[in-house]
Amino acid sequence: MKMVFLGPPGAGKGTVAAAAKDYYGIPHISTGDLFRSNIKNETELGLKVKSILASGGLVPDSITIEMVRNRLAEPDCEKGFILDGFPRTIPQADALAEMVDLDAVVDFQISAEEVVERLSGRRMCPSTGRIYHIVFNPPKVDGKDDETGEDLIQREDDKEEAIKHRLDVYTQQTEPLINYYKAKGLIREVKTNNDLTPAQVFELTRKALS
Ligand code: AMP
Repeated sequence: MKMVFLGPPGAGKGTVAAAAKDYYGIPHISTGDLFRSNIKNETELGLKVKSILASGGLVPDSITIEMVRNRLAEPDCEKGFILDGFPRTIPQADALAEMVDLDAVVDFQISAEEVVERLSGRRMCPSTGRIYHIVFNPPKVDGKDDETGEDLIQREDDKEEAIKHRLDVYTQQTEPLINYYKAKGLIREVKTNNDLTPAQVFELTRKALS
């Protein structure tokens, strides 16, 4: 299964993808996680994109497309993959169409108010990328990762100014992809909200894909 998870920041793409990758036995490829790991390891790419991520803007298409092209060429992607956070622009979607034939694009739908509520309470394990929410999906021990026990962090771009910017960027640059993929018959809708548990959203996703 070759699929894309589409939706605004905070829609739950990463959380569902973490469950879906085990269920379908395919890798979860998050371009945001790839950038963050490059930033953490202070690679050339990481240094180039650090300030862009902190502001909530988009990394240039050429850089992002090249990174995804390299990742999809790895052997674990042969059977399928979940792309989370890519494509985010029409040129990225065009480039992806030249690399692979997709089976489905899941469109996660959530209101803007709920996105703000989610992102501002989101916490992350810096080494594994595991995601929590202080109210909706808290860790077992306050402020610590369930498995590694590391201190959880708040992403720079989950702070108020950056959240607003990321939502504007989503509306302007990424939302048009819904119609782009509708025209190709690939869209599967999943309506989500803050009353649903991660397990319930995964179940809705599984049904939408079946
Ligand atoms: P995410 O974890 O998906 O919210 O991504 C975090 C940040 O990484 C975004 O706000 C962008 O700065 C950058 N990023 C991730 N994916 C892409 C992409 N497909 N195109 C451009 N920038 C991206």
